[in-house]
Amino acid sequence: MVARRELSPREPAGESAGEAMGEAMGEAIDDSLRQRAASRLRSHRQRLTAGREQLIEVLAAADRPLTIPEILQMRKGLAQSSVYRNLVILEESGVVHPVITRDEFARYELAEDLTGHHHHLVCATCGRLEDLPATPALEKSVAASIVLAERTSGFRTEHHRLDLVGVCADCS
Ligand SMILES: [Zn+2]
Ligand SMILES: [Zn+2]
Ligand SMILES: [Zn+2]
Repeated sequence: MVARRELSPREPAGESAGEAMGEAMGEAIDDSLRQRAASRLRSHRQRLTAGREQLIEVLAAADRPLTIPEILQMRKGLAQSSVYRNLVILEESGVVHPVITRDEFARYELAEDLTGHHHHLVCATCGRLEDLPATPALEKSVAASIVLAERTSGFRTEHHRLDLVGVCADCS
């Protein structure tokens, strides 16, 4: 996700804040994300437990896919074994998507249809991945390329992924 938010327990409430519902569950992820995640889990006979919600919070606040060690570093107190288990369930339920890279670390992010379509910058030196917002101009030219490719191959495209592979600012 592009927007990064502080995970403060309580934001200064102005006059217009109204009564926020359900702060006790952590208001760091917005209600619509929570509801969509919960309904995906329900359709896989799973529940949005506190541990799963915390994982979604961490992933939603990040601007790039995270490795499990990074997740554990960002949210102290999460047990590694439950993070593994919950990631499997969140992945099976279509809430979390694994991002495959060539280094030894699997990286995880929220599914694009929950957060928005975007591309990735991949550093071939350190393996770091960054989200890159999709621009209308780029999407238009990708769509045109897809039309050409489908015409010659008979392939029917459902979606695309675009990784730019190179050297990140820290490594160059
Ligand atoms: Zn790098
Ligand atoms: Zn991403
Ligand atoms: Zn795209």
